[in-house]
Amino acid sequence: MNLSNCPQCGKVYVKNNYELCPSCLREIEDQYRKCVEHLRKNRGCTLQELSEGAGVPIRMITRFIREGRIATKDAPNVLTPCESCGELIREGTLCANCRAKLSRDVKHMHEDERRKEERHAGEFGSTYMKDRDKHDKHGPGNSN
Ligand SMILES: [Zn+2]
Ligand SMILES: [Zn+2]
Repeated sequence: MNLSNCPQCGKVYVKNNYELCPSCLREIEDQYRKCVEHLRKNRGCTLQELSEGAGVPIRMITRFIREGRIATKDAPNVLTPCESCGELIREGTLCANCRAKLSRDVKHMHEDERRKEERHAGEFGSTYMKDRDKHDKHGPGNSN
């Protein structure tokens, strides 16, 4: 038998797929059921209203949404905070701003690498040098 400590309440329990003891699991299922019920009656409620109406902590509702147990289409006004800046968003874990910033940072990283490679290639005779040679051959004949 595989025993473990429940991360929620600290009690020793027989390990299962949910990594929670049966009583905490039941508690979460109960909270989930309350959320779904409240949403069925108040489809347009916000995260705050859902938390108060269902008596479920916001942290837990956020988790249900992230896990996809509560679909955002069933809760159109329940927004969850962006993990980076805290702005309320409809889907995912980051707001549009932070997502854009993140992809910009990644792009910058790639550009830096490319520039480094170019500089490296430049040390061993570059196309720039060849172009200048060609130009010099034309140059003197045409001027004067
Ligand atoms: Zn527990
Ligand atoms: Zn953000």
